[in-house]
Amino acid sequence: MTTHRIAVIPGDGIGQEVTPAALEVLDAVGRRHDVTFAYTPLDWSCARYRREGAMMPEDGIERLRAHDAVFLGAVGAPGVPDHVSLWGLLIPVRRAFRQYVNLRPVRVFEGLESPLRTAGPGDVDLVVVRENTEGEYSEIGGRLHRGFPEEMAVQEAVFTRAGVTRVLDYAFGRAGRRAGRLTSATKSNGIVHTMPFWDELVRERAAEHPKVAWDQEHIDALCAKVVLDPGRFDVIVASNLFGDILSDLTAAVAGSIGIAPSANLNPERAYPSMFEPVHGSAPDIAGRGIANPVGAVWSAALMLDHLGHERAGAEVVAAIAATLAATDVRTPDLGGSATTEEFTRAVIARL
Ligand code: ATP
Ligand code: MG
Repeated sequence: MTTHRIAVIPGDGIGQEVTPAALEVLDAVGRRHDVTFAYTPLDWSCARYRREGAMMPEDGIERLRAHDAVFLGAVGAPGVPDHVSLWGLLIPVRRAFRQYVNLRPVRVFEGLESPLRTAGPGDVDLVVVRENTEGEYSEIGGRLHRGFPEEMAVQEAVFTRAGVTRVLDYAFGRAGRRAGRLTSATKSNGIVHTMPFWDELVRERAAEHPKVAWDQEHIDALCAKVVLDPGRFDVIVASNLFGDILSDLTAAVAGSIGIAPSANLNPERAYPSMFEPVHGSAPDIAGRGIANPVGAVWSAALMLDHLGHERAGAEVVAAIAATLAATDVRTPDLGGSATTEEFTRAVIARL
């Protein structure tokens, strides 16, 4: 019997509704695999920020460190600026725990309708690997001559050999365990220092992963190809900014933001990784028990994978796929009338 310690941050809005759903599924699949989970519930959220002036306590990072993984519902609330939850919780966690991979799988499940004619059910099964700690999202830069006609802003992007190499190695490794195809997204015709450096490192790492077929695309052309023929992609690796944009684009292809999962990974497992659905707190539907739990449940499956229970993770994804394919139980965002709880029970029944 294995027990994993999981820090659980339901957060705000529908985070409070989809997180219990994900934990129920985890417990159910765990029973079949002799795995149990010891949850530490944490009330870190924008609600806490309103009460106490901070998203998390001062020793928050230390408290998370004692866990095997962090599971997060969603953070965000009307009237609380996005940078509060970003800089008060998400970014400190990603940095402290060297979660340099942001992994976002995308599938068009049977029974779901993609907004694209080019993405029929079963056609699309890809993952975006986004660099999560450096690149374009840096604080280096500044403003000069504020308010004068010469006013200017400068923002530096940071790409380190070590930082790019480690995310590329992860992406090549992932591709090797999937369909064996990797696409790297850059923009070396316009961004003439950092992007050619990235391209060079891709060629270097490709030599170490000879079984993976790889190509590279300019990010603009790649966006067009993802829309025109999303089925041709397996693993797409990109910098922090390009990966951010691509993963929203690819998630939209899947039909509802409610189904998209994500993982912030420290692949070496030296620190806890963090798993969270892509969607936010959805204040417009919060409190009604109708949020789609698939993004959270699939994120829990990614957590199982990362903790070494690949079979259990695959069973959860298969149960999600079967429940969506059956089409009789689905939440309102997918055109049904089921509650979060009803959908979750349908998934557990198919495990
Ligand atoms: P935040 O500020 O936390 O990012 P948001 O409103 O900007 O919140 P989302 O929370 O992702 O962004 O919501 C975007 C839209 O998608 C909303 O209309 C929301 O109701 C819907 N939505 C998001 N997640 C789900 C879900 N799990 N189930 C159903 N609808 C969802
Ligand atoms: Mg938002």
